[in-house]
Amino acid sequence: MVDKETIRRNWETVKERVAAAAQRAGRNPEEIRIVAVSKTVPVSGIRAAVEAGASHIGENRVQEAWQKYQELGKIATWHLVGHLQTNKVKRALEFFDVIQSVDSLHLAREIQRRCEQLDREVEVLVEVKTSDEPTKFGIAPEETAELVAAIARLPRLHLTGLMTVGKFTPVEAEVRKCFRTLARLREEINRQQIYPETLVHLSMGMSGDFEWAIEEGATIVRIGTAIFGPRDYSA
Ligand SMILES: *Cc1c(COP(=O)(O)O)cnc(C)c1O
Repeated sequence: MVDKETIRRNWETVKERVAAAAQRAGRNPEEIRIVAVSKTVPVSGIRAAVEAGASHIGENRVQEAWQKYQELGKIATWHLVGHLQTNKVKRALEFFDVIQSVDSLHLAREIQRRCEQLDREVEVLVEVKTSDEPTKFGIAPEETAELVAAIARLPRLHLTGLMTVGKFTPVEAEVRKCFRTLARLREEINRQQIYPETLVHLSMGMSGDFEWAIEEGATIVRIGTAIFGPRDYSA
């Protein structure tokens, strides 16, 4: 794990790079939210990021995040960015503020049902599979509008946008293509008023590609390695 001071400097660097990319695209840096993705990072690292200024934390596994939440509590807005199994929805809704990875009607319905039991509402994003990689999660682009229309009928879910993981390749054009697919989908959904409110968010861009994502319209970037250093999965 990298030390607190390194995390602080990394956070500052990421913020500067986000601002520079926004300016290049003629966009206001303030409209881009940085989610610090802290999977595998111990709670001390998360605290350091929050002290440096991070106000959004992203985790990809419910159980790991839950353990950290027991220690940290609501020190920031908690985002689930990883695949959510229906049998983990109840636990997830006990502490996550935003679920970025809704990718099926089955899952959306389970979130609605558990929200009713817990008497809460939840902000969600629909995860779209914009690349042809078999390992990726997300709904197909051509099925996204239908899922969005169905979510509009689930009153406990507040859909605010779309999420994707760009293709894992150094080829810029192929990565940008994923981000453009997502941006076009949101545009089309908003134009056709498939959801009663305008979808404002495009969650796209990670450590290796967030500047391209911002140039393509990202409003949320999910950054792990560039803030916390390389992940240690052995820990
Ligand atoms: C791990 C992860 C990230 C952050 O990845 P980095 O490359 O470390 O920035 C972003 N989004 C999702 C869905 C992730 O699982």
